[in-house]
Amino acid sequence: MIAETRKIRLIMELRQGGVTQTDVLTAIETTPREEFVPELFRESAYDNRPLPIGSDQTISQPLIVGLMTQALALDKRCKVLEIGTGSGYQTAILARLARRVYSVERIRDLYVAAAQRFDRLGIANVTAQIGDGGLGWPEQAPFDRILVTAAADTMPQALLDQLRVGGCLVIPVGAEGGTQTLWRIVRTAEGFEEEPLTSVRFVPLVSGIAG
Ligand code: SAH
Repeated sequence: MIAETRKIRLIMELRQGGVTQTDVLTAIETTPREEFVPELFRESAYDNRPLPIGSDQTISQPLIVGLMTQALALDKRCKVLEIGTGSGYQTAILARLARRVYSVERIRDLYVAAAQRFDRLGIANVTAQIGDGGLGWPEQAPFDRILVTAAADTMPQALLDQLRVGGCLVIPVGAEGGTQTLWRIVRTAEGFEEEPLTSVRFVPLVSGIAG
């Protein structure tokens, strides 16, 4: 099957899975996922499944990327914090829909490869750094939106603190290999409103930076 046909099939699968916002579907359609996966998996880049990206990590399934992005309800004024850069694919999608994206990754090799991709693809509104994303990015806070792409055991307080009033945090919470729930947390003037979205399966959010 040629790449364009695979891509059309993927977009149909995302629609069926509940990704209905046109701007999110367009961002996925126009972001070359094959640039974010290892050479060996290029053929599978438009399959609706996670793929290995090295260092024991995975690029998320496109449907999950779509649902998480949609849950953030982004617009071009948003300043976004992303935890878990990985391949940089989700970052690239966010960068299309938001004003600026700050992304934190704890594994150096993944950070380096992702930063090279942003350069090569001319993605200029992303600032990436190596760090423990569980601590957020206090120097740049507050954020309009925060997305975590690894599963936390418990809700990280630092991320809640760095959310602007009116903003939202989308985060998977639950033990590795166990049931994880994707949550959408909205910060209001009075506190936080929590809404469970769906069951998910993510690699764990690990404390500290690697190596
Ligand atoms: N969004 C990525 C997929 C990420 S997989 C993509 O589109 O490719 C989860 C990523 O979170 C991994 O790269 C992992 O190294 C990273 N991670 C785990 N714990 C972290 C932490 N505390 N701080 C920053 N990154 C973390």
